[in-house]
Amino acid sequence: MGRIQLMPDHLSNKIAAGEVVERPASVVKELVENSIDAGAAWVNVELLEAGLERIRITDNGAGMDQEDCERAFYRHATSKISNENDLFHVRTLGFRGEALASIAAVSRLTIQTSTGNEAGTKLDLEGGKLVNESKSDARQGTDITVEELFFNTPARLKYMKTIHTELGHITDVMNRMALAHPEVKFTCTHNEKQIFQTNGRGDLLQVVANIYGVNVARKMVPIEAETLDFKVKGYVAKPEIYRASRNYMSTIVNGRFIRHIPLNKAVLQGYHTLLPIGKSPIVVLNIEMDPILVDVNVHPSKLEVRFSKEKELFEVLEETIRRAFRKETLIPNVEQSK
Ligand code: ADP
Ligand code: MG
Repeated sequence: MGRIQLMPDHLSNKIAAGEVVERPASVVKELVENSIDAGAAWVNVELLEAGLERIRITDNGAGMDQEDCERAFYRHATSKISNENDLFHVRTLGFRGEALASIAAVSRLTIQTSTGNEAGTKLDLEGGKLVNESKSDARQGTDITVEELFFNTPARLKYMKTIHTELGHITDVMNRMALAHPEVKFTCTHNEKQIFQTNGRGDLLQVVANIYGVNVARKMVPIEAETLDFKVKGYVAKPEIYRASRNYMSTIVNGRFIRHIPLNKAVLQGYHTLLPIGKSPIVVLNIEMDPILVDVNVHPSKLEVRFSKEKELFEVLEETIRRAFRKETLIPNVEQSK
């Protein structure tokens, strides 16, 4: 008999979880993304001990019927893509079908969900194994509780940092989600104290004020540009306020918060010489483009992307930011004569 065997699901899920679920903040990110993909108008996040003890996410999204709810916990189970072509037209935040299976594999998880048309479904899973199934109420939406994260992966648990550090990572996630989705009302509590809230009225500047404070919001200049390929909208802070770190440069592509070092460079070029050397501006850029122009399938965390018209995009950003400050008469308008 051969020595090679296919792994049982719970084992392969646990291995995959190593990539998808690094820390409590990854759970929050994946579950909130699912809520947004489900069209939720509000998402509540409740944390105990920075999520190490409990993470509960409640939304008023589309919910799932019983069959979908059971399926959702299989690896590679997704409602978001169904063929190869879809992979190049992803408009949702998720598409890999890995998060629920991975999170369930390394925690005790309870889900209650309903489409609002019939009684809901409640599942209890432990280390990815279904231990109980029952009916729940018919409120439309989904309520997921993740407890004792990493209880069955002691090495990973040991690697967790302090409550303070883990909470900091979760706050980053909430800030990014809120900047990317001002139309969604977010609330987040930690040990029953509210730590974050947005109003969900779709006003990005208001979200900027919630996160960075009113004084920063007052110094933000709106920008807007549209080309054949890209739509850019957002806010760039006047150069008189700047930060030492690039962490205040937020880029959102098709509703997804991303990190892209060359893109940040283009933004800095837009500021030209207005910023002190080595300093970074506060910016929030919302970029919309045909999904065919951006590859989000680079890494499981989906924070990294690749653009197929990178140069064109950078030019638009640089020029738009320059123009914004020219209007503000910060840059003397000296055009070269041709
Ligand atoms: P993905 O988001 O990549 O599709 P997930 O494992 O995160 O994979 O979720 C699997 C599926 O479960 C989703 O495609 C979606 O259909 C469903 N789902 C997950 N969370 C929710 C939710 N909060 N509301 C409604 N459906 C959900
Ligand atoms: Mg998902």
